[in-house]
Amino acid sequence: MRNALLRHMKPLCSALGLIFLGATLGSCRPDMPPSSSSSVPASAAPVKTARNTAYRTPQVRGPVPRNPDMSFSADFSGKGGLSFSRVPVSGKYIAMTFDDGPHPSNTPRLLDILRARNIKATFYVIGRNVDLYPQIVRRCVAEGHEIGNHSYTHRLLSKLSDSEIREDLARCRDAVGRAAGIQPRTLRPPYGGLLQRQREMVHAEFGYPTIMWNVDPLDWKRPGPSVVCSRILSHTTAGSIVLSHDLHAPTVDAMPSTLDGLLQRGFQFVTVSQLLAMKTDAGTAQAAPAPATSQAAPAPAP
Ligand SMILES: [Zn+2]
Repeated sequence: MRNALLRHMKPLCSALGLIFLGATLGSCRPDMPPSSSSSVPASAAPVKTARNTAYRTPQVRGPVPRNPDMSFSADFSGKGGLSFSRVPVSGKYIAMTFDDGPHPSNTPRLLDILRARNIKATFYVIGRNVDLYPQIVRRCVAEGHEIGNHSYTHRLLSKLSDSEIREDLARCRDAVGRAAGIQPRTLRPPYGGLLQRQREMVHAEFGYPTIMWNVDPLDWKRPGPSVVCSRILSHTTAGSIVLSHDLHAPTVDAMPSTLDGLLQRGFQFVTVSQLLAMKTDAGTAQAAPAPATSQAAPAPAP
């Protein structure tokens, strides 16, 4: 199961979508300790996650506690489509997503940062990394985070045949199942590349909606923690799905000030499945239509 050759494969996730250059905010200090003055806004709606200094990590022994997301319906097709880049919700709910892990040091460090604030996030894991570091996936689930499917090999799926896509997504799904006893419920295609026809196939066969994003700090280009922070803070709105990568140390460095800044702005953090379950009928928030041919698929990042 742990193929040493896999260690030489370097996952990279790219960025479609919005490019946020030049945004600067004075509050982004990566070395800033977690703020003790952040406050969680009052809300009548159920608060799935909140700042909570009394939060304690569950023991990761025996069966992993089920992610609360698993109680939601897996069929989101009746709620506005198969692809989402943001979700219309009533309330300042957002979903932080972290791609390409688990990473042996950066992901646990991020989990500590999230735990200190009792913030739940969604991890779009690469299956081969799950097989290398299954205990980190177990910890993610035990601490209430959601695990999404990001394929096993991180290839551009729009270039693959249906059978190749089927095999790749199933391998990731099964790796997550072996590691943590749960199954992913949504898909983020590597590089955001998945044709509309493929999205329909994936939904029909796996039940996954395709989850894109509407906030992209381009952290994979390593612009520095303060830039990552300022881009996220200046572009996140209610219903946003924020893309980041937990395999990059500077991205994790950016998270304390980023998360505290979002808390100070009144945002409440939920997982992707929770955000989808909160979807209102107001407006349309589906991702832009997927390209019809593989030629139109985005170019992979370097
Ligand atoms: Zn990726």
